Amino acid sequence: MSRSDVVIIGSGPGGAAAAFSLSRAGFNVTLLEAGPRYRPEQDYRLDRADWEVRRFPHKRSIRRRHTHAGLQALDTKWDTLRSWSRAQGRLIKGTHRAFSQYSHVMGVGGSTLHYAGESHRMHPRAMRLHTDFGVGADWPIRYEDLEQYYSEAERIIGVAGPEADAVRPRSGPFPMPAHAMSYGSQRLGDGCGQLGMSWLPNPVASASRPYDGRPPCNYCGQCARGCPRFDRGTPDLTFIPKALAAGHCRLQTECEVLRLEAGPNDRVSAAIFVDKQGAQHRVSADFFVLACGAVETPRLLLNSASRHAPDGLANESGLVGKNFMETLFFTSSALHPEAMGSYRGLPSDAICWDYNAPDAIEGVIGGARFSPATLEADLSGPLNYAQRIVGGWGEKHHEQMLGMFGHVLSVGAIGENLPNPRSYIDLDPEEKDTHGLAKARIHSHLPDMELKRLEFMAGRCRSILKASGAEEPVEEYGSYDMFNSTHVFGTCKMGASAGDSVVDAQCRSHRWRNLLITDASVFPSSGGGEAPSLTIYANALRACDRLAADLGQQRRVPA
Ligand SMILES: Cc1cc2nc3c(=O)[nH]c(=O)nc-3n(C[C@H](O)[C@H](O)[C@H](O)COP(=O)(O)OP(=O)(O)OC[C@H]3O[C@@H](n4cnc5c(N)ncnc54)[C@H](O)[C@@H]3O)c2cc1C
Ligand code: SF4
Repeated sequence: MSRSDVVIIGSGPGGAAAAFSLSRAGFNVTLLEAGPRYRPEQDYRLDRADWEVRRFPHKRSIRRRHTHAGLQALDTKWDTLRSWSRAQGRLIKGTHRAFSQYSHVMGVGGSTLHYAGESHRMHPRAMRLHTDFGVGADWPIRYEDLEQYYSEAERIIGVAGPEADAVRPRSGPFPMPAHAMSYGSQRLGDGCGQLGMSWLPNPVASASRPYDGRPPCNYCGQCARGCPRFDRGTPDLTFIPKALAAGHCRLQTECEVLRLEAGPNDRVSAAIFVDKQGAQHRVSADFFVLACGAVETPRLLLNSASRHAPDGLANESGLVGKNFMETLFFTSSALHPEAMGSYRGLPSDAICWDYNAPDAIEGVIGGARFSPATLEADLSGPLNYAQRIVGGWGEKHHEQMLGMFGHVLSVGAIGENLPNPRSYIDLDPEEKDTHGLAKARIHSHLPDMELKRLEFMAGRCRSILKASGAEEPVEEYGSYDMFNSTHVFGTCKMGASAGDSVVDAQCRSHRWRNLLITDASVFPSSGGGEAPSLTIYANALRACDRLAADLGQQRRVPA
């Protein structure tokens, strides 16, 4: 058995920022990560002829760790929200919503390894949904409590962004100037202008100039396949090397935690994990920080049920796994008569925040934002065009391909997803993983409020395309008929009261005071389409700085 001051489980944004904060404060940290380390120059091979058929090179499959419950029946009144493409027709053939994917990565850096790097601060009013609008839950902290940590996280991952933000006050400018928008994004901006909508550079964690030893982005557009250029600020290149450099952090990869042990004294005593060779180990510590993501964190807590925690660890409120919030999204694509070169650029390089406030969309509570999405939709190579857009055979196919390739513009919307009792994570009563542990089972339901918001999002996406001159729709897909979640939240809610939340405002379990949760599980609300990682980093830095201060161990080493 080994021992540390702190054991951190999971090395995505929540675990990486915690490791950085606690190791610079002088704690001995063991960081356990179930997945391997990726080597960008070897693993992300965009220089090969078959680059387009090669997706992100998962080394460990997340799919074997979860199942899903049946999804809701579709209703013809929402037919305009169904997914389709020009070449394939309706994408979901059945009468029920289909499970497409819960698309996450197991590895050092977590799901950011294939993310677009969007780096957003929460809308301050989206953190007060219950008080101001009577829905969802409030955050027990304010935007102001996060601000200094937002700035620190932006500096560490290197965010390039525009100057002004009237809604989200900043104590300083972004570390790098914003990226120039691609030609296609500029055309979409023209469309927004005609509709009276704003269109600003999107803050992203990829370098717009040499930064902290990283080269600038080359606008290849392939972030989702993994960035081989080292310019994108993922935790494996930022927080984790800095944590290791502090000299107090030990990273153990391919070490999967099976359960946490808890004693009669309301303290977690050890983590049991299995290494790459299949050997089991037990590591004890004074503190445990859980950051496995909003599906795996509740799974681990529920699988850690014991005599002292019969309903699952830290589940005294019964809320572990509840309040599951997913990505409410809609993407619409259309052909522009002019060549747009839309196969290149930085993904999501622009954003419209006009409808992001909780009361910005008439008739619903909860906002949404809009961005260019041609590269997220993977319309960046000829194979996807052939399968999804062009269709046909022989000469005609070639002719059409020449006239269409690089002409598609896409707009994507992401909106608030309010918690509801039918969306949650529990343990699958039948399916077990290779260690004999119950898999996480995902339950997802979209009530009418969500579908109304989605209807608005779809309408705006189409209007922006049309106003930009992209008149011929070629593909649409969204949450209405497919579950496909990149941002997940809420399954270990943070709150002031032990009866109504899993962790307190400092991310510590109300009962198990040496257990912290620092990933997106603790988000009480999802925000109106903000990408979550920056808030995960900031919140983890805040909670761990507070822990270090409480313990009087602030022995900082330079970042
Ligand atoms: C395609 C895609 C694009 C995205 N784009 C953006 C974007 O542009 N901007 C943004 O902010 N967000 C984006 N996201 C979302 C973002 O990646 C996630 O919100 C974020 O990574 C979540 O961080 P986390 O720390 O909660 O968990 P994760 O990143 O999921 O990390 C959890 C880690 O814990 C490890 N783990 C799990 N169980 C165990 C265990 N039992 N033992 C040990 N280790 C374990 C996992 O292997 C994983 O590495 C995107 C996501 C996807 C899928
Ligand atoms: S667009 Fe930039 S950040 Fe994305 S993979 Fe290419 S070089 Fe990396």
